[in-house]
Amino acid sequence: MSNIFKSSYKPFLVAGPCSIENQRQLQAIVDALLDDGRISMVRGGVWKPRTHPGGFEGLGETALQWISELKQERPLLRFCCEVAHPHHVELCLRYGIDAIWIGARTTGDPFSMGELCMALRGCQIPVMVKNPTTPDIQLWIGAIERVMATGNSDIAAIHRGFFTSNNLGYRNNPSWEIPMELKRIMPDLPLLCDPSHIGGHRELIPQLMQTAMDLHFDGLMVEVHTQPEAALTDARQQLSPSMFFAAVDHLILRSADDIQNTNLTLLRQQIDTIDRQILENLKARTDVSRRIAQIKQENNMTVFQPKRWETVLEKDLALARELGLDDRFVKELFEKIHAESVRVQEEALNGDKH
Ligand code: PEP
Ligand code: MN
Repeated sequence: MSNIFKSSYKPFLVAGPCSIENQRQLQAIVDALLDDGRISMVRGGVWKPRTHPGGFEGLGETALQWISELKQERPLLRFCCEVAHPHHVELCLRYGIDAIWIGARTTGDPFSMGELCMALRGCQIPVMVKNPTTPDIQLWIGAIERVMATGNSDIAAIHRGFFTSNNLGYRNNPSWEIPMELKRIMPDLPLLCDPSHIGGHRELIPQLMQTAMDLHFDGLMVEVHTQPEAALTDARQQLSPSMFFAAVDHLILRSADDIQNTNLTLLRQQIDTIDRQILENLKARTDVSRRIAQIKQENNMTVFQPKRWETVLEKDLALARELGLDDRFVKELFEKIHAESVRVQEEALNGDKH
């Protein structure tokens, strides 16, 4: 099935300001972006979801009017906006907006998604669905399924990172495994990356753009503003057009096709063997946990022993450092292993409860 997000220059590039702020700013950014010829679509928010009241909330219909005038002057201009209410959809259709995206806060709310999709029924306007703010892949898939059920075939997903207990220095944790899992479940769905809302700081954006390409994303949506520091929303993360095009020029596009290479085959065999060893070791560890559970029961001890856990984690992290492994990775891994050990011991004591 043809899909607009897979049809043009790879990567499919969407760029433009977080918000449309005035007519001059809109014209300036469209001029700066379109002259390059690699931009598939310009973005610009006209209804802005703000955390606190009193901030700049977008210019709504006024901005749509400017976009439609600009489109008359520039027939090549394709423009997309965020929608959160059925009324937004109606207005975007009325003003000839070329595509819409559903923001992270809306994707996470099945009621809003239901209402939006009623308004989208039978419309062929391309729709991009951002991930919800929380790392819940099912909520993301559910929102995409709701849009699919409207009969639309031009749908893409946008990965914009997740709010987690530790965002690792990013505005939103990239948690790359989640969009990769989406790609595995829905291989034909075009997947774009929004490095701007992941990074939150402009210095981080070029590297995130490259990572997205290395992970085989189909496109990018990047916030670009002619005067990023003076932007009314998301000033810290927007790139100037020259920064943006420099980052695009430097993108290395690698092939996703598998190749026949003897060394690669040998190394992959080693990985398969190591994976097997890891699983066998996990099995051995689980068996030991069950025996520990028995002793704890006989001695009326709690399953979770905070002091012991602290010692184990410290020891494992020290060894990880010695081995040159990433601290954060090892910590997360052992937290999961420990949680499983606690679950197994609980199960041994009380029967399976989960
Ligand atoms: C945006 O794209 O400007 C935006 C509000 O994004 P998100 O929904 O990802 O927060
Ligand atoms: Mn923004």
